[in-house]
Amino acid sequence: MSELEALRALMEADRWIERVVSQRSHLPELGELAAVEEELRAMAQQLRAGDEVLAPLRAAAAEAALESERLRARHEALRTKLDASTANARELTALQHELDSINALLRTSEDHELELMSELEPLEATRATLTANAQPLATRRGELRATIDALQATLDEELRALRADREQRATAVGGATRAAYDAALARVGGSGAAQVLDGRCDGCRIALSPLDRDRWRQRAHELTFVCPECGRVLLP
Ligand SMILES: [Zn+2]
Repeated sequence: MSELEALRALMEADRWIERVVSQRSHLPELGELAAVEEELRAMAQQLRAGDEVLAPLRAAAAEAALESERLRARHEALRTKLDASTANARELTALQHELDSINALLRTSEDHELELMSELEPLEATRATLTANAQPLATRRGELRATIDALQATLDEELRALRADREQRATAVGGATRAAYDAALARVGGSGAAQVLDGRCDGCRIALSPLDRDRWRQRAHELTFVCPECGRVLLP
């Protein structure tokens, strides 16, 4: 294999690797996953904000329910006491007064409970809708993550094989050519060599000046002419 063929083979291997690396980081599933995750984050934020309002309301409603319960028990106890009472008229009147005041307190407490419930209901409904809407998105996120993992594992496998092959090819390019190639590769990435297509370096897409085109024609076969823009070795 000639030096030129070896260099071209190395360039092609590096370009292939670059394509697979790019494919790996531009999977359409990655874009969808990012969108789904963003939507889920927004929903989680809405949930947290909603819960901040809900939490004190729920606590107040529970407290009001307990208070009503306590008053009902007290009412029940007084009622029983009054029904079974053999006390005198004055004591009976006092009991009746207490019963009336407990009744009034119970009505107030139940009204308060109802007010809190009617405040809570729409908030709870919004929360339930939000949670229900998040469910399919969370499922989709799981699917996407699994798909991406599988695709990337396949591509990683491919890249390992390509890189091994690339190392093999690199050993066939020696000396100054290899040094120039490696230097350009380290600096600009992709590959360390390029071809001239329609007067342009196909590595960086910059057009060569007429003077550089002449120089390239004269020196390309020596594999020493590098693109003035990106520094890649320009192949004949
Ligand atoms: Zn270039």
